[in-house]
Amino acid sequence: MTDTPAEDLKPSFRSDVTVELVKHSAGDSDVLWAARVSTAGEQSLDELSKDPERSKGLINFLMRDRHGSPFEHNSMTFFISAPIFVFREFMRHRVGWSYNEESGRYRELQPVFYVPGADRKLVQEGRPGKYVFVEGTEEQHKLVERTMEDSYIQAYEKYQEMLAAGVAREVARAVLPVGLFSSMYATCNARSLMHFLGLRTQHELATVPSFPQREIEMVGEKMEEHWARLMPLTHAAFNKNGRVAP
Ligand SMILES: Cc1cc2nc3c(=O)[nH]c(=O)nc-3n(C[C@H](O)[C@H](O)[C@H](O)COP(=O)(O)OP(=O)(O)OC[C@H]3O[C@@H](n4cnc5c(N)ncnc54)[C@H](O)[C@@H]3O)c2cc1C
Repeated sequence: MTDTPAEDLKPSFRSDVTVELVKHSAGDSDVLWAARVSTAGEQSLDELSKDPERSKGLINFLMRDRHGSPFEHNSMTFFISAPIFVFREFMRHRVGWSYNEESGRYRELQPVFYVPGADRKLVQEGRPGKYVFVEGTEEQHKLVERTMEDSYIQAYEKYQEMLAAGVAREVARAVLPVGLFSSMYATCNARSLMHFLGLRTQHELATVPSFPQREIEMVGEKMEEHWARLMPLTHAAFNKNGRVAP
C-alpha cells in the first residue's frame, strides 16, 4: 500500500463507521449440516431445502438449549474502519475472532478523525452502573465539534512535524488520539458474532440487557445486517431466544 502524498493529508472528520462483508462462507444450512451429523452421519450440505419447517425448528432448538458448536461451522470476514477507541473495545473479544489491523509502524497514518454526529447523545445522567444518555444542547454539540477538530488538527500537525524531522512513525504516532480512524479485517463465525452482538448492541428483545458505547454498537448493527441476510433462520432464532449466544 502506498502512502498518500503530503499535500493530500488534510484532516477529515467522520461521524459514521464502515463495515463491509468482504468474504463469507455462511448459511443456515451449515448449522443444520453440522447438527445432523449427530443422528444422520455424513450428508449433503443442501439440507435446508429438504424440509424448511423442520430445519427452522432444529435451529431454534439448538439456540434455545444452547447447543452452540453447530453455529461455528461458518465464516465471515468484515473490513471495518472505525476510531481506535472502538477497536480497543472490539479486540477484547478473544474467542472465535481473528484480527489484522493497519500498522502505525509500517505506514503513515491518515488524518481521518471521529466527531460525533448530531444524533449522538452527549450527556450521561445517573451514577456508574445506572445511567442514561440524553441529548446534548446545541452549544454542547458545537463545543464538541470545535474542540475535537482543533485538537485533532494540532495533534496531526505535530505528528507530521516529527515525521518531517526524520522521527520514526512508531515514535511519532504517540501524539495521535484515540479518535483517529483505523482499519482492520475481523473474521468470526455466527456463534462468536452472536456473543459480540449480545454484549455490544442494545435491543428490545434482549433478555440480558447490555449498555455498550454507541460507536461500537454502530459497528455491531452493521455487522448484524450482513449476518441476518446470510443466515436468516439463525438470526431469527437468536432474536426469539433473547439474543443470548448459544
Ligand atoms: C458494556 C460493557 C462494558 C465494559 N466495560 C469494561 C471495562 O470497564 N473494563 C474492561 O476491562 N472491560 C470492559 N468490558 C469488556 C468485557 O469485560 C469483556 O472483556 C468483553 O465484553 C469481551 O467479552 P468476553 O470476555 O465474554 O468475550 P471473549 O473474549 O470473546 O470470550 C468469550 C467467552 O469465552 C469464555 N472465556 C474467554 N476467555 C476466558 C478465560 N480467560 N477464562 C474463562 N473463560 C473465558 C467466556 O465464557 C467468555 O464469555 C466491557 C464490556 C461491555 C460489553
